[in-house]
Amino acid sequence: MPAPWDLPDFDAHESVHLFDDPKTGLRAVIAIHSTHLGPAAGGTRFWHYADQQAALTDALRLSRGMSYKNAMAGLPAGGGKAVILADHKYSKPQELLDAFARAVDSLGGRYITAQDVGMSEDDMVTLSKNTRHVAGLPGQGGDPGPYTARGVYLGVKAAAKRALGADDVRGVHIAIQGVGSVGGGLARYLAADGAKLTLADVNADRAAALAAELGAQTVASDSIISVEADIFSPCALGAILTETSVAGLKVKAVAGGANNQLATAAQGQQLADRGIVYAPDYVINAGGIINVLRHIDNADDTAINGRIDTIPGRLHQIWEESDASGHTPAQVADRMAKNLIGR
Ligand code: NAD
Repeated sequence: MPAPWDLPDFDAHESVHLFDDPKTGLRAVIAIHSTHLGPAAGGTRFWHYADQQAALTDALRLSRGMSYKNAMAGLPAGGGKAVILADHKYSKPQELLDAFARAVDSLGGRYITAQDVGMSEDDMVTLSKNTRHVAGLPGQGGDPGPYTARGVYLGVKAAAKRALGADDVRGVHIAIQGVGSVGGGLARYLAADGAKLTLADVNADRAAALAAELGAQTVASDSIISVEADIFSPCALGAILTETSVAGLKVKAVAGGANNQLATAAQGQQLADRGIVYAPDYVINAGGIINVLRHIDNADDTAINGRIDTIPGRLHQIWEESDASGHTPAQVADRMAKNLIGR
């Protein structure tokens, strides 16, 4: 396997730690991209990878993403990420979690972990028995979804201002893909403001029930992305903005909570070429991580909401710099994040 610094996703990471504990079978990577703004924070992913290089690449890529996200959220945190290499049965005995917690603890707080794919809240509680460097435990802010939803709502309003010149969302037509924790919360905020909503979810009953409650329309989940509306709000899957789907968009803005919305960087340019305002995903959906990392500086709800309130200002700053520089909003966001972390 190539050394970490020979992989394409290596980005001058401060350190990359490999853990191997034959007694428990633990194999894990903790990648610390940056501690420039504070301890490197980011979740632990428990995943069965095709090979070790794929695991290392994921840790490198995701930890850089956390540096950018945390910096743009104005958090006193750097970026890091852990991956535990699961076996094909995804067995996760207590001894393995204990060994992983000791690995996190051995970094002395340079890395703070949290929940990610394959890790439950109970797993976080288990980790916390062997290390105090765990964020998002029960009683420490709770479910991030409602905080993410509020940040996305503020971001959608900013997009309405930018794309339509609208001071509020009354009568603005928003198509929401996915009405789970984030999309459902967003829909409630927007409905209370008098927006016109079209909802879709692969769980059609969920979309129908929410639509009945809010007086919204529904469409089939595979047609929401081509609904004619003012704003498309992806709140389900990543990589939904492909060359084909962007070509078929009939909206003036895309602003939603899903992670990694652009299938490739080219779609950022394609949106700009079509004159569609884009709210970079990791900026608009930062409400959840802002809440999860509340214990880093003992922020209370007022401070948390104050941080979430800065999301629309950041988006406007990105769009203005995009106008001035000719770079896409996604490129501008990355550059602003790099500046913040001193790169
Ligand atoms: P969730 O599981 O509560 O809701 C997702 C909803 O999308 C579900 O109702 C699901 O049925 C639906 N869905 C899945 N595939 C779909 C499709 N193809 N078309 C339409 N609907 C589909 O998840 P969530 O917490 O609301 O997260 C939504 C997105 O936001 C994810 O991309 C997640 O990574 C991202 N995100 C969430 C948070 C958070 O705090 N929860 C924070 C940042 C980013």
